[in-house]
Amino acid sequence: MNPEEKHIISLEDISIGYHGYDELITQVNAGIRKGEMVALIGKNGSGKSTLLRTIAALKKPANGKVLIENRVNTTIPEQEFAKILSFVETGTTIVENLTVYELVSIGRHPYTNWWGRIKERDHNKILEAIGFVGMNNFSNVPVNRLSDGERQRVMIARALAQETKLLLLDEPTAFLDLPNKFEIINVLHRLKKSGKSVVFSTHDLETAFLFADKCWVIHENKIVHGGVEDLGIENVYGEIFKDSNIQFNEEEMKFIPNRVLKGEIYLHGNSESVLNWTKRAVIRLGYSINGNISSAYPEIKQESLAENNMWIVSFQGNTSKFTSLYDMTRHLTKIN
Ligand code: ADP
Repeated sequence: MNPEEKHIISLEDISIGYHGYDELITQVNAGIRKGEMVALIGKNGSGKSTLLRTIAALKKPANGKVLIENRVNTTIPEQEFAKILSFVETGTTIVENLTVYELVSIGRHPYTNWWGRIKERDHNKILEAIGFVGMNNFSNVPVNRLSDGERQRVMIARALAQETKLLLLDEPTAFLDLPNKFEIINVLHRLKKSGKSVVFSTHDLETAFLFADKCWVIHENKIVHGGVEDLGIENVYGEIFKDSNIQFNEEEMKFIPNRVLKGEIYLHGNSESVLNWTKRAVIRLGYSINGNISSAYPEIKQESLAENNMWIVSFQGNTSKFTSLYDMTRHLTKIN
């Protein structure tokens, strides 16, 4: 991608907040290009929803402007705006007794006449949107019979039926189990590949790391933005929760609780998979792994033979053998 390529959304010196309260975000400049996927990250209450609503022209910024294709978003006529940008809000009230088809057809509103008559092209776009999110067999099912994951997919289909080049989604993966979460993210990723620009907010760095090109991180009333990994190198993720009792673990690419280090361990063995689980167990107990053997801390030798696993713990001249990590970790907490 040409770095000079114009931003399709530009935040120009914007500050947002609610009248009478301190501003949530001050003097921010950021942008997104065609076909990019941006993950908007920040603590609860940092202003993610408010920013998305501001981009969607549902709220005016306190200062600065949001440009969509070089035009101030709030000046674009409503009908025209609805053909450029669609927004899937969290907890959007949906009419429960509509079928999937009827709900998705609402997305055609910028194209249908005032009583909303569906023409053949609209019908095809509705079916295409339903197919895109993998809900073909649900067209006639009432929305109130769907699971949370299915519902979310239908809400995205409604936005797709709107045929916009920009899509905003507020916490699209909240409350979903892991397979559903990745299902949604895959849908978004395919959208991106089809040339749309997507901004989605999430608490979840794991999903952001897998698919986003860029992150906008709201931190201390500013937005730090950049390539997902560039921000990692700059320790931006570690900074977000620096005052909380958690820290960002770069190896695991996720936040983990702060722990007082209990000591070191020398770990070796013959099965990579079993060693990984062993490492996880001892880290959970608060140990760090040292690559060198020493009498100052315990040694764990892992041995796997056929289906049988064994852990041999040696410390201060005593050696004990275990056949499960559960027993081994219980022993470790007693001896050290
Ligand atoms: P996030 O999406 O990051 O959790 P929000 O944008 O929903 O954050 O909210 C940011 C802050 O603005 C919160 O402290 C919230 O209580 C406050 N807020 C949200 N809506 C309003 C409102 N209509 N009036 C005043 N304050 C609001």
